Amino acid sequence: MLKDFFFKQKRFATIPSEHAKKDIPEGRVKKCEHCGTITFVKELEKNLYVCSTCDYHFALSAPERIKMIMDQGHFFEYDSDLISSDPLKFEGYTEKLKSDMRKSNLNEAVVTGEGTIGGFPVVIGVMDTRFRMGSMGAVVGEKIARAIERAVIKRYPFIMFSASGGARMQEGIISLMQMAKTSAALAKLHQEGILFISVLTNPTTGGVSASFASLGDINIAEPGALIGFAGPRVIEQIIRQKLPEGFQTSEFLLEHGQLDLIVHRKDLKATLNQLLDLHMVKGRM
Ligand SMILES: [Zn+2]
Repeated sequence: MLKDFFFKQKRFATIPSEHAKKDIPEGRVKKCEHCGTITFVKELEKNLYVCSTCDYHFALSAPERIKMIMDQGHFFEYDSDLISSDPLKFEGYTEKLKSDMRKSNLNEAVVTGEGTIGGFPVVIGVMDTRFRMGSMGAVVGEKIARAIERAVIKRYPFIMFSASGGARMQEGIISLMQMAKTSAALAKLHQEGILFISVLTNPTTGGVSASFASLGDINIAEPGALIGFAGPRVIEQIIRQKLPEGFQTSEFLLEHGQLDLIVHRKDLKATLNQLLDLHMVKGRM
């Protein structure tokens, strides 16, 4: 029939062959959580893991952050051998730790060490949300406290990159103690007049936001980061009030005085470099 020429319909769905499927290896593209844009991982990498459509800042692993911020070949890691025990014998905790170690190739949720940024020596700590949501247990607290103590001895500025779900549930009260321990170490740093820059990234919540992450001489956040103590629903229930729009974002906190700066990831290294330069006092920072 003549009309068949005009209404040609596809009768079969196209199913990619096994060979075609292999051409797109898993993990080669990533979807933006904010706007849904799908981007090749290679492109994202070039763009410092920032969505080119909406500027959403993807979470970075600790090694990626270190590579992005520290001068190449100038990073010496501290205490990488510290491993969490299971003080409360929490069911399933040891297995979860082991599985996160395998997946992240890290021993804990924070990497600490020293190196240089634009030639300025610094001690840094970088949290990694792939490991138990970047939560703070005894080892995370200990590594951060030790890093701060080294900054005091060496008189190097301390920079902390936070990304955390808060205190680690499986370590109960011991994880809460880390808030006091890290804050006490920072108080010593402050007494010695040494600079502390806190960089808050998405998300920085719970006991981490309520301790060292908020104690910077300069508090910087990445755009659009979720920063807060408890979740908005819990707060609304307690205060029996509706929370304002954008509550717990970097932008809201900057407007209300809890942050000093919001810095786009592409400008972060240069900003840190400039701040270190400004605080340099003849061989002493
Ligand atoms: Zn996006």
